[in-house]
Order: sequence, then C-alpha cells, then structure tokens
Amino acid sequence: MAKVSLKHIYKVYDGKVKAVNDFNLEIEDKEFIVFVGPSGCGKSTTLRMVAGLEEISAGELWIGDTLCNHVEPKNRNISMVFQNYALFPNMSVYDNIAFGLRMHKVPKNEIDEKVRAAAEILGITEYLDRKPKALSGGQRQRVALGRAIVREPNVFLFDEPLSNLDAKLRARMRTEITRLHKRLQTTFIYVTHDQIEAMTMGDRIVVMKGGYVQQIDTPQNLFRWPENKFVAGFIGTPQMNFFPATLKRDKGGVTVTTKDFTLTVPASEAYRLDEEYLDGERKVTLGIRPDDIRPVAKAKSGAEIRAEVALVEELGTQILVYANTDKSRLMEENSETAFCAATAGNPGICAGKEVCFEVNTAKLHFFDEATGQTVKHRIPTVTVKGAVKGGKIKMLGAENALPPALSTKLENGEYEVTLPAEALAFGKSGYAGTVEEVDDLGKGRVLYRVCCGKDRVFLIAEGGRAAGESVFVGVAAEKVTFKQSGEVIVGAIPATFRLGGRYVRFKDGKQKKHCIETDGVRIETPFEFNRKMYDRGRSVFKRNLAFEASADKVKFGGDIPVTVEEALDYGDKKYTRLRLNETTFCIEGEGGTNVMFDFDDVKVYDSDIDMRLF
Ligand code: ADP
Repeated sequence: MAKVSLKHIYKVYDGKVKAVNDFNLEIEDKEFIVFVGPSGCGKSTTLRMVAGLEEISAGELWIGDTLCNHVEPKNRNISMVFQNYALFPNMSVYDNIAFGLRMHKVPKNEIDEKVRAAAEILGITEYLDRKPKALSGGQRQRVALGRAIVREPNVFLFDEPLSNLDAKLRARMRTEITRLHKRLQTTFIYVTHDQIEAMTMGDRIVVMKGGYVQQIDTPQNLFRWPENKFVAGFIGTPQMNFFPATLKRDKGGVTVTTKDFTLTVPASEAYRLDEEYLDGERKVTLGIRPDDIRPVAKAKSGAEIRAEVALVEELGTQILVYANTDKSRLMEENSETAFCAATAGNPGICAGKEVCFEVNTAKLHFFDEATGQTVKHRIPTVTVKGAVKGGKIKMLGAENALPPALSTKLENGEYEVTLPAEALAFGKSGYAGTVEEVDDLGKGRVLYRVCCGKDRVFLIAEGGRAAGESVFVGVAAEKVTFKQSGEVIVGAIPATFRLGGRYVRFKDGKQKKHCIETDGVRIETPFEFNRKMYDRGRSVFKRNLAFEASADKVKFGGDIPVTVEEALDYGDKKYTRLRLNETTFCIEGEGGTNVMFDFDDVKVYDSDIDMRLF
C-alpha cells in the first residue's frame, strides 16, 4: 500500500542545469501513472529520484508516510524494471528471479513459492531452467518483471521497459503489464516516450517537456482538454492539425478566420474562449483533430473547409485523407494549409480531387500563438457586464446591493465583471439561474454551466444537480475583478503575497537568532523553519530569496509591525489592507498594527535561479 507524493521536486546538475523543475504529483495507492515526453524532458531523472538512484536537489519525496529524500534505495520498498532487462547472463531464469530474495536472506521454500507464483503469472514456468540468452526479448522482459514481482514492493517503477521490443511484441507486453497492474493492485510509475503506450496504460499521465510538467490528467482529459499546444500535438494519432488564425466575436458565436477558410464556434462553446482574443487581431493557433474533420457532400454553414486531396491512406477501418487548402502547396506536408482528416468507410476520395470537409466546430482548440497556452478553457473565467448605480449592481439578470468595500470605490457606470469559477457557489439567495450543462470533473467535483439572465457562468460544486434545475448563484465579491475598458478599477483580493529578502543569522546578546530580512524589516523565524533552511545547505545565507505566504494564514497579533492602509468591508467578511514597508497585502479581520506569520505555510524560493526550496 503506498501513496507517492512528489512535492516541488527539482533536479539541478552542477548548480545550474535544471533537468526537472517544480515537479508536483500526488500518486494514489494502486494508481498507474505514466511519465511521457520527448527524449531529454526529465522523465527518467524524475523516476530515478523516486528510486533513490539520483539525489533530489530540492523538494520532498514521500512514499507512504515516510519522507524518502535520504532513504537508501534498498529501503524504499520499490522495484524497478529497466529497458535493458539487467539480467545475469550466467544464471538461470529461476536464479535471476530468486536473486533479490536470496540477497535478503528469505527462506528457501518461501523463495521457491514466490518464484513459481511469479513465473505462473507471467507464463514463463517452462523456461525457469533456461539461461537468458536462450530467451526472446519479450521473455527476457518477463523475467525482469518476475524479479520485480517477487519482492512484493509497494511501488513498481518502469523505465521504458518495452523500447527494445518489436512493434507487435510491444503491443502484447503493453496489455500484459496493464493486466499485471490489475492483478497486483500496486502503484505503478511507468516512463515512456511513446504516447500510445501512455494513453493505453495510464490511469493518469504526466506530460513533460524540457524539464517542466506540461499537464497531468487522465488520457481522456488530456485528449479533450489539452492545456497547451505541445500537449495537444503530442497526445493523439494522427496528430492534431494546426492553422494560424484570428477570432472575432459575432452575433451567433465566434468567427475563426484562417488564410483559406472561416469557421463559426457555436455560441454554446464560445463562452469558453478568453475574451481578449476575440478582437479579430490577436494571433492564435487553431487546432482540429483529424477525427473532427470528415469529407462530406455538403457541409453545414460555418463548418466547411474546401481543400484538394494530396494523398489517401487506407488503414482498414480508418481512412486518412491528407489535403491542402492551397493547391499550389499540395505536396508540402508541413505547410500551414495542410491537414489530415480521418474518416471511416470509403468516401470515394482520391488524390487530386477538390473535396468538401465538415468540421465539428464544438471541438475546436485554440492556443495563444506566442505562448502556446490554450485560450479555450474547460473551466472558464467569464466576464459579464455589470451596471453600478447607487451602491447596487445589475448583472446576471438581477440587481443586488454591493458591499461597502465595493460601493465606496465603484462609481456609477458600466463595468466588465470577471467571475472566476471559485468566486461562485450555489446558495439560498443571490442570482437566480438555470443549470444548463453538467460536466463531471472527477473526485466529487462537478462543473456546472448556469444561465443567469442573458449570461452564462461556470461554477464547481458537489454533484446532485441536473440540467434544467432552478438554482441561486452566490458571488464572493472579494474574488471578483471590476474593470472599465480593460483597466482594473477594483481587483480581487490576492490569495498569496511575496516578500523579497535574505535569510540572516545574528547575535542577540548571547543568543543566536535567525530571521528573514525583508524590506529592512527583520522577522524572526522559528526552529522548524530554520531546520528546513539549514537542510538546504549554508548557501541559503548568500542567496536572494523570496518568501511567499497565504494571506489567510497571516493573523493579527504577534510582533511583526505593519501599517494599516484601509479597512475593506465585504459584508460577511472583513479584510484589512496592510503594508510591510514596500509590500502590501490583505488579510481577513480588523484592527491591530502587528501580525504573525504561520511559518509552516511560508514557501521559500531562490530568486537567483527561480527554484522553490520548500
Ligand atoms: P528523459 O528520460 O526524458 O529522456 P532524462 O531525465 O534522462 O530525460 O534527462 C533530462 C535532462 O537532464 C537532459 O537534458 C539530460 O541531458 C540532463 N542530464 C541527465 N543526466 C545528467 C548529468 N549527470 N549531468 C548533467 N545533465 C544531465
């Protein structure tokens, strides 16, 4: 039984090469996790840190309830299976499997029982007397699996175990390892560069690139809701098609314009798009999966692409049609006008023909052209119009009083009101609406799309509500941003704040003390915090650091002097804006000119190399 937690794990070589950056993952007991990404992205390094074969530069690794950063590999209760099997050539299969148990001085009869049981599971009983050289690649990999199984570890680690096998055998071993996982009911962490392996085997997949985690989710969610262009292109075969495009809001939805075609995003999906990209100018990348483009006799309006066919590949049940909207670039596979469509059945299409394709416009993807980040969100932050008059606001089809913190600052007029999902909750009063769409996010969280007046909002709650149900939506005013012509008039209260500074030690009479020195203010630090700092080595005294605190963990009282800037009355909740020299932050509560930090909550960053220390 083992949960594995990787908390802000970094791997830095030679003090500067960052192979793994801020890797965070909670692996559930019995979960099958796959790390996937191109060569050099840091997946093996991460796995090796879990195994204990590589030192952890920063962060915490927990296996079960044990902090394992400095635990010897042999004491971590894990088994690792490598690409090159690592079998002893001069030993029989039986002895290879028994080797680890003999090293651990397990009684002979117990070893025999375990070896035979593992051989049975893996179907290699008849080869127990053979030497590895008399086995095929697949059989050798099974022996390596057997050696891992008999140790009955809490966690299995696999480092590209199938890379040396041919395609057919890989596919078979893939299913065998999945079955093995079901049978052993143990946590599996599996590294591969092959996205098909990842998609078919993992309960959840960690997609990595250049030392950074790109996205962690189930195969279906990665496919449906890629957070950036890299994940979108990496996951799914054939690959997603990309086109340079612009977006513009129109009456019926959003118009997508590319060089050779235009499409319409239906109104029901347009809410998911970031407002600032809908000006008809900002450059985005349109992504369409081959499965969402199909050749048709006549396409629906707003969903048509006309293109010339370059090549048709018949794969049995699936037919891939490679086409180009620019006739003159027909054979340029990588041109910005080329795409691939996947279809079933034979549509009687052949190369050289001009064909009409229909696009599933509900399933389009959009990414910022420069950063590659998605601009279409499963959990959107919507911006609605709000009209303020005499301390009241009219929005979402109703009028409600503003709390004093807002009524004193918002003059009469029209505002753009930004409502993140976490600012909204079902309540007994607030804005009346109707549930329109229910989307299960997993782990008891359900995303609801609610129609209030003429607007749609998104909020997350426990399940139990159905489409068509009448509800009230409550708004947490402190989490809302009010803008006019894009300029922030009143912002949401930030959840965290950062203080820049150094960690210093000094003598107070005879006593040695430690503190963080920030903006010329010294804040004494407690023992446990100092211990964590010392764990990072002496260099912490020389570095430029940043200290991050959650605003809700800072309380009035204590001995850190602050200046009160203003009281913020949000009705049910009262906040105070405080100043600590150059830094301002808001905390809940009223009064007092001293605060205290909860140092268990304070996160420390090395500003020089942008690395979280803990
Ligand atoms: P992957 O398993 O995704 O192919 P690795 O985890 O093996 O990638 O490597 C991640 C990065 O760390 C690569 O850029 C690699 O060059 C670098 N790296 C690995 N080992 C060392 C080392 N001992 N010294 C310096 N850089 C290393």
